[in-house]
Amino acid sequence: MNKSDSERISGMLDGLGFKNTSNLNNADLVVFNLCSVRQSAIDRAFAKIQNLKRKTQNNNSKTKILLTGCIVDKDRKKIKDFCDGIFKIDEMGELPSILEKIGFKIPNKNTKIEHYLKIRPEYESGPIAYIPIMTGCNNFCSYCVVPYTRGKEISRPEKDIICEVKNLVKNGVKEIWLLGQNVNSYKSKSGTNFPKLLEMVNNISGDFWIRFTSSHPKDLTNEMTEMFAKCKKITPYFNLPIQSGDNEILKAMNRPYSSENYKKLIKKVRVSFKKHRKGQESIIALSTDVIVGFPNETVKQFNNTKKIFKEIGFSAGYVSLYSPRSQSAAFILKDNISPSEKRKREKELIKIIEKGALRFNEKFVGEKVNVLVLEKGKNFFLGKTRHHQTIKFQSDKNLANKFIKIKVIKATPYGVEGEKY
Ligand code: SF4
Repeated sequence: MNKSDSERISGMLDGLGFKNTSNLNNADLVVFNLCSVRQSAIDRAFAKIQNLKRKTQNNNSKTKILLTGCIVDKDRKKIKDFCDGIFKIDEMGELPSILEKIGFKIPNKNTKIEHYLKIRPEYESGPIAYIPIMTGCNNFCSYCVVPYTRGKEISRPEKDIICEVKNLVKNGVKEIWLLGQNVNSYKSKSGTNFPKLLEMVNNISGDFWIRFTSSHPKDLTNEMTEMFAKCKKITPYFNLPIQSGDNEILKAMNRPYSSENYKKLIKKVRVSFKKHRKGQESIIALSTDVIVGFPNETVKQFNNTKKIFKEIGFSAGYVSLYSPRSQSAAFILKDNISPSEKRKREKELIKIIEKGALRFNEKFVGEKVNVLVLEKGKNFFLGKTRHHQTIKFQSDKNLANKFIKIKVIKATPYGVEGEKY
């Protein structure tokens, strides 16, 4: 989501006459787009901002620094003296007047933009494009600040999304990611829900893949699991954050489902894929997000998480160590799991994820798979399969940004390797 927001900031600045530079020392303006999910990320960003500010002061440079993204009030106060301005992501449309205030001459400073998602982004993701379909969140998971920093859920009109996808596909984009904090609760003003939107995007003509993230288990309806499997442009890859496998911890996290419900949902998705797809396409790759070391998480409760991970066999898993975020409901709880214990739990879970991922990837050894080629390394190419596995292979041809078929010859926990093309 942040990447997509940055593309919109870039598009807006481009429209105002600014040009991108990769050289910080030459920049007239630097915009930091922050993510508050982890304190460690914020601390690293703050160190960069403070360094840049000192450098500009020492060199008497005129570089201006702006900040945006998810920033909690406490951090906003801490950093405000090191930058020239802070704006909320949904205030992006006011950039012309913000820039005027900090000394830039902007010809069309009174341009009014109805909503920041109407801004045309400057895409920079090659054959992949990230399209926000909604912003904000109404869920208030107790560890998360997004509902406070981004506000309530707002869904984009379906016609804007369809128009954006059509243009991207016409311009050669091969993979479309539909983004939102909780895409499952997408609902446009005219009543289109997420399954309907998926169907509409799937009906756009052209050769392209559809992926989406993020999904909340509580909003995963039967209509959605069915549509997901029926729409053949949607790849057989699904990320469903579990966050914990223990029911008491889920309750404390304000995640209104149980581990038993979660398993039932996974079963439903698997059954839908078996019903509507054939061959490799009928096997779904499941990934998840999980937090270890939530306040008061006992070893027994953590073992419940390990158990469900072993049972499901995810193809990938993203483990976070619990990090207290001010403004979130859990901030008042004592962060009483030591950093070393959190790291120990992380390691144990990663081992289980790696085993599951290896087992999943091994299913494809000897098979020919569809690949979207993304980039060229020194003597190899990297791409993604329909199941979102990273694939590495060699070729003498220029294949970047193309769909090709590759025979898988080796599996690892982190992807697959393919035969020379
Ligand atoms: S669903 Fe929960 S974790 Fe995700 S953005 Fe909303 S509050 Fe945060």
